[in-house]
Amino acid sequence: MPQHIHCTVENCYYWDTGNYCLAKEILVTTDPEASSTPERVDATNMMEVASEIGSTSARSCMATCCKTFHDKNRSSSPPVPKLSRAEVTQSAQKS
Ligand code: SF4
Repeated sequence: MPQHIHCTVENCYYWDTGNYCLAKEILVTTDPEASSTPERVDATNMMEVASEIGSTSARSCMATCCKTFHDKNRSSSPPVPKLSRAEVTQSAQKS
């Protein structure tokens, strides 16, 4: 089933007007787990990384974060493909 991700982090490479996330996939984990791994960790092998991390536990939403965040001003390559707004909109309309 298609997913639709709303996000307000406007300096992320994947953010789009109206608070849309255009990342093909994202990795969300706990703050401690995210802090203990380099930023490049979720890069191109997200399924493998998610498997390695396994299950984590958080006491509240304040203790979770999006590991796929990529500062839009950073010169390095973004970790996952960026979808077009049309692809995201079509996906949401089908659900
Ligand atoms: S990748 Fe994460 S931080 Fe970036 S727009 Fe999507 S949900 Fe927000």
